[in-house]
Amino acid sequence: MNQQDRFKQLISHAKEYGFIYPSSEIYDGLGAVYDYGPNGVELKNNIRKYWWAAMTRLHENIVGIDAAIFMHPDVWKASGHVDAFNDPLIDNKDSGKRYRADQLIEDYLQKLDDKIYREVSKAAKRFGEKFDEKLFRETNPRIQQVREKKDGIHQRFVKALQDSNLNELRQIIIDCEIADPVSGSRNWTEVRQFNLMFETKVGSVREDANTIYLRPETAQGIFVNFLNVQKTSRMKIPFGIAQAGKAFRNEIVARQFIFRMREFEQMEMQFFVEPGKEMEWFEYWKDKRMRWHQSVIGNIEKLRFHDHDKLAHYANAATDIEFKFPIGFKEVEGIHSRTDYDLARHQELSGRRIQYFDPDTKDSYIPYVVETSIGLDRMFLAILANAYSEEKAPNAEGELEDRIVLKIHPALAPVQIAVLPLVKKDGLPEIARKIIDNLKIDFNCRHDEKDSIGRRYRRQDAIGTPYCITYYY
Ligand code: ATP
Repeated sequence: MNQQDRFKQLISHAKEYGFIYPSSEIYDGLGAVYDYGPNGVELKNNIRKYWWAAMTRLHENIVGIDAAIFMHPDVWKASGHVDAFNDPLIDNKDSGKRYRADQLIEDYLQKLDDKIYREVSKAAKRFGEKFDEKLFRETNPRIQQVREKKDGIHQRFVKALQDSNLNELRQIIIDCEIADPVSGSRNWTEVRQFNLMFETKVGSVREDANTIYLRPETAQGIFVNFLNVQKTSRMKIPFGIAQAGKAFRNEIVARQFIFRMREFEQMEMQFFVEPGKEMEWFEYWKDKRMRWHQSVIGNIEKLRFHDHDKLAHYANAATDIEFKFPIGFKEVEGIHSRTDYDLARHQELSGRRIQYFDPDTKDSYIPYVVETSIGLDRMFLAILANAYSEEKAPNAEGELEDRIVLKIHPALAPVQIAVLPLVKKDGLPEIARKIIDNLKIDFNCRHDEKDSIGRRYRRQDAIGTPYCITYYY
């Protein structure tokens, strides 16, 4: 089965077992917006809880907040989002489909990487134990050719992004003969910038109303509360502020299920450090966050770092943690060294002094910031994709049949314990309920007495329940 089909199966499994539904489905849905069902909300809450504990409970110097979604509109001027929160878009004239130009090129570069990987895997099989991968990569002419091609395009791509050169982005698409993935057509429009923020109005009288934005990231709620939190919690630098909450982006190209949504949830932590120490902390948080992902995913082969080709206007270093989704390696979390950009801009626009007074050195300064920013929904999808497996198991007649098992980490599973009375009589269901009563404060338990015991086990396998108790006497 190819990866696209696998992805489709995952999406239908997520719906069938109450993880994720399309939003407003009875009205045919709303693009790139999804609702979480009974199992989905449990899994999502557990991921959030695990992240929150890893950030705040395990770090004495990190505290949390929960800022409002609506913020003063000047926040987004200061942060640069009004002027620079844009995606470069390109339309295909034949199919009428719209794409992000940078993503079309990134996907093309990924294909070249895949080609190299395939050559190496083939050779590894052919040569067996004698295979020297490093030597092969350095000397094989076909690999060198593909690598040179990739490096050339990559350099042009990075420069075009850095110069915000939209014509050059288009030219790369034309030169690489990149086709519309849906229709195969190469008939492209110009590349245009598109701002991703949603606007709305506050105030009851429309004429007097002010335009405000739905926050496109949670981070700014942390920055504008920097002094409040530092003073009320008596925090000393280095310290961090964590927050989980909704963010909104008017994503134009949004057809990858919950990977790219218009309404999603972020879990962010801004870590405030002394200027000059940010690279040390950047490395620290890269390591910490990668370990967190490894603890959840288990399979380290499916995780990697990917340094940014273009740094955002506020950053002096940035890397992504990527997970190997069925649609390829993609970002789940960004780790950014944001310098003092945000606090300095808020100081400038608000006219308030936003500085940290160091009681030891008696110096005042604007701290530098290292941010860890993970998408809760993307992490949910990574966990689901990682967990989804098909197995053969004997049925009641001893014949092998297919079953879907979600291998979710027990600490995150939506249901931790299912209690299954063997038969629906002789007082067994009542005892099963008593078992649940004893466990339900600490664990999410489910009682199931319908159908054969085998089918009940299958149902729990399909939602990733780690423990089932069968009560039979
Ligand atoms: P991308 O390049 O995929 O658009 P980004 O670099 O713009 O992502 P950030 O601004 O760094 O993303 O946001 C931090 C995290 O928030 C991302 O790593 C991702 O997990 C999540 N995220 C961002 N946009 C979306 C979205 N539209 N839907 C779901 N999650 C998102």
